[in-house]
Amino acid sequence: MTAQPLLVFDFDGVIVDGMAEYWWSAWMAAQRLNAEPQGLGSDAVPQGFRRLRPWVHHGWEMVLLAAEMPQLDPERWVVDYATEQDMALQRRGWSASLLQEALDQTRQQAVSSDRAAWLGLHQPFPGLVDRLQAFQEEGVDWAVLTTKTAAFTAELLESLGLRPWRLDGREAGPKPEVLLRLQRERVLAGFVEDRRATLETVRDTDGLQSLPCWLASWGYLKPSDREDLPRGIQLIDQDRLATPLAQWP
Ligand SMILES: [Mg+2]
Repeated sequence: MTAQPLLVFDFDGVIVDGMAEYWWSAWMAAQRLNAEPQGLGSDAVPQGFRRLRPWVHHGWEMVLLAAEMPQLDPERWVVDYATEQDMALQRRGWSASLLQEALDQTRQQAVSSDRAAWLGLHQPFPGLVDRLQAFQEEGVDWAVLTTKTAAFTAELLESLGLRPWRLDGREAGPKPEVLLRLQRERVLAGFVEDRRATLETVRDTDGLQSLPCWLASWGYLKPSDREDLPRGIQLIDQDRLATPLAQWP
């Protein structure tokens, strides 16, 4: 085992801002289901969608949000997202698998018909590409662990000129399991992620209780995510990210 530490990064909301792609794909997937949001175009991300994105765990939820957007009240959804989601699914007679399939098909078609345009919907967060490239000089390797498919993520990383030591996508399994596998191969320096619940699950996993976890403040966070973080999870902003790893909180 090499002694060089490995730092693991989530992708969406940490390296890349995919908001424009989320909305575009969700809008197009809703259209596939004859439910595109009336009065809203596929280009401009509505404020309500942006605001609710931190509550989204699986891609299909964005398709429902897009379809519901014209009549949706964000104030009610942030109070009880799960109930509002269930009610909307029932009213439309939709299932998670139906929506996920529509989303996957939309993305596959976008990638095969106009790859460059689809890639262009993803923008790296300011400074992230340079920062990741600089880890090499620090003697730190970095990896990507994402719930996106590995093929899409590999393509996006490639387009940004980024080459992680390793990439694990949706197919690799739940993030805690992948981290445990990585830990058998490498010394893990920590995990940077913008979903607090994922970090909490990681810290509650046997074998990962001492893994340093950082919550990316520039990602898709609910307002309450920043408050009262449990031990072992630190909020990190982009200024601190730019400092050497040894100086991170
Ligand atoms: Mg994320």
